[in-house]
Amino acid sequence: MSTVAERLNDIQQQITDACRRAARNPEEVTIVAVTKSVGPERAREVIDSGIRHLGENRLEGLDQKQPEIGPDARWHFIGSLQSRKVREVIGRIDFLHSLDRGSLAKEIQKRAERPVDCFVQVNVSGETSKSGLGPDEVGDFVRMLGAYDKIRVVGLMTMAPNTEDEEVIRSTFRGLRELRDEISALKLPHAPCTELSMGMSNDFGIAVEEGATFVRIGTAIVGYESGERS
Ligand SMILES: *Cc1c(COP(=O)(O)O)cnc(C)c1O
Repeated sequence: MSTVAERLNDIQQQITDACRRAARNPEEVTIVAVTKSVGPERAREVIDSGIRHLGENRLEGLDQKQPEIGPDARWHFIGSLQSRKVREVIGRIDFLHSLDRGSLAKEIQKRAERPVDCFVQVNVSGETSKSGLGPDEVGDFVRMLGAYDKIRVVGLMTMAPNTEDEEVIRSTFRGLRELRDEISALKLPHAPCTELSMGMSNDFGIAVEEGATFVRIGTAIVGYESGERS
């Protein structure tokens, strides 16, 4: 049995180790604790362990946890966002990790009262089951977003394929980093695109080695709601 604080300590150590291997500063890496599978009490425990960034993938998760946690957290929306939910979600989050289509951008422009920090989601690996833009679509998409003053492109996001093959995972993350470098080099005022949202419980070490600045970690931090399996 381990507690949230113990698991977090362990993860922070692993991030520090990965940063050392890659000659990076651990302060460049922000942990987003994904609380989508647990209730408000466990989310509170995460906050009390010193984490400031929480990730949810559904409106219901925000409804359930924001009253309890409120302004103690910065809220990241990491799931695919249906256009019809934008109105209710957009004013309540600090970061959107799943901007993946023009119709969503248009809806955000219509509903947001202030600019929203967004990650453009990219399907680097090309798996048909994954959402996100193809790597060769990202440049035009990001340029097009210049028409929307409610969208600020802070970076790119991806999910690695679910595989044991470390090289496949690594090349996915590296691909996102190279794309990030290309987009940020364009120096578009609406798209500083300096950040990389990549790495989950099973692959965050590789993601950090490849340049992740936001890792989205769920089960390795929060465990499971009933019983502690890790
Ligand atoms: C659930 C989820 C995570 C966290 O997954 P774990 O394997 O529990 O760490 C990260 N990113 C996205 C987009 C998710 O949906």
